[in-house]
Amino acid sequence: MNEHEKIRTLLTLAAADVLDPGEEKQLMDHLRTCDSCGAELEKWKLLAGGLRRLPTPQPRSIVVERARAQAQIRLAEEIEHRWNRTVIIGLLVFAWILTLLSWPLVRLVTGGVLGMLDPRFNHAWIVFGVFTTTVWLAGGAAAVLLSLQQRRERRLA
Ligand SMILES: [Zn+2]
Repeated sequence: MNEHEKIRTLLTLAAADVLDPGEEKQLMDHLRTCDSCGAELEKWKLLAGGLRRLPTPQPRSIVVERARAQAQIRLAEEIEHRWNRTVIIGLLVFAWILTLLSWPLVRLVTGGVLGMLDPRFNHAWIVFGVFTTTVWLAGGAAAVLLSLQQRRERRLA
């Protein structure tokens, strides 16, 4: 690519005023010796000026409002989903912690490892099972209630 061809690729950028200082100087030096590039640059400048004077299309305000409302609804839904997930994960962790914590307690009450051989062991297992089931059911019920309440709140909003 010779100097003239290289400068021609810069002409549109020059018309848009986006040349860096080095390119600007290169262009100016070339224009002093090349009329054809000077004429070409004038044409591009005319076109660029015409484009700048064109009115920028403005979206109608109702379209903007609708888009904004939709974005807000989507954002609210996203937050709700994230919150629901957090609640469910929290309840699962809570239920597991209670389950795991209750096991040593059951062991302690029933007299440790030796208690396994004890007839009371079966009773302890039933208590443990009922307790665990209750915790899990309570957790599940709380999750369902919370999500129902959230949905009701969103419908009212
Ligand atoms: Zn030239």
